[in-house]
Amino acid sequence: MGRRKDRSEFALIEQLRVSARARGDVRVGIGDDAAIVRAARHRDLVLAIDTLVADVHFPARTDAAAVGWKALAVNLSDLAAMGAEPAWATLALTLPRGDARWVRDFARGFGALARRHDVALVGGDTTRGPLTVTVQAHGFVPRGRALLRSGARVGDRVFVSGTPGDAAAGLAIVQRRLRAAARDARALVARLERPAPRVALGLALRGVASAAIDVSDGLAQDLGHVLAASGVGARLDVDAVPASAALRRAVPERRARHALQLAGGDDYELCFTVPARRAARVAAIAAKLRLKLTAIGTIVVGRGLRLHDAAGHEVASPTGGWDHFRS
Ligand code: ADP
Ligand code: MG
Repeated sequence: MGRRKDRSEFALIEQLRVSARARGDVRVGIGDDAAIVRAARHRDLVLAIDTLVADVHFPARTDAAAVGWKALAVNLSDLAAMGAEPAWATLALTLPRGDARWVRDFARGFGALARRHDVALVGGDTTRGPLTVTVQAHGFVPRGRALLRSGARVGDRVFVSGTPGDAAAGLAIVQRRLRAAARDARALVARLERPAPRVALGLALRGVASAAIDVSDGLAQDLGHVLAASGVGARLDVDAVPASAALRRAVPERRARHALQLAGGDDYELCFTVPARRAARVAAIAAKLRLKLTAIGTIVVGRGLRLHDAAGHEVASPTGGWDHFRS
């Protein structure tokens, strides 16, 4: 920004520097006019950017460390869905006032996740205005090996990682639309505020999955993007979608729970398709990563998503009016 900066603004940027992690491929990080990284030959660069706006994407009073974690997590999740290995990040912070404590806490949350995935914060921008956080994450894949939305083929199996629906229940709890026992509430809210991007899974799925997407807007909608991009349809067993014990206790009614699992966002799990002949490899990946990977459906000829229950009966889509928790 061109406006003359005061000392406090430079002090804020200094706090972000401590969350940066040195990598051998960072030539110039925070402190010059732009960052320089060493992009390798034989690899494709993969870029993702996401903006979180206070009171749109998170309540303004959310713990700053959780905002820092999540701002990076949603981007690493996009890289994971491409099968990319994360490397660098840039950060544009818009703050209502120079709140050093907020920035310190934000940097702590951001840094904790960055360290876990060996991501270096190499630069950014700091401005004044309504609280808004934009992170761009950069990673790479061996040339031509990225996972795309467009690769699903008829006969492929559809899988999902983890236990979808937890984050949507966490949001309902935060917004006081749902109550749960204290321990379950903590676990569900943690899934909302500190999602674990499935980076290792994305890497393991290279050469195995035919298509992948991360679940940010709800399983049904996000799988729908894969189907549209691939020109296929899918049949999905709503009873096969795994629910956590906390979610089952918090939302015992089956249809209400399915609504959260299919239409609720913010899970940042991966939904991916695998050709039937390679489907057995998914179990080995699950065991190695200690991550639940569940077959929930099949790619079929046609368009769009058809839902059925364990008995094989067709069920209405969650957009059909049984989403009890939609605000
Ligand atoms: P300029 O006016 O040249 O854009 P800035 O004062 O905005 O310079 O930035 C100075 C240095 O601090 C740059 O290296 C920039 O990348 C870094 N920086 C500024 N804001 C942030 C931020 N929010 N996160 C990380 N790095 C930042
Ligand atoms: Mg700048």
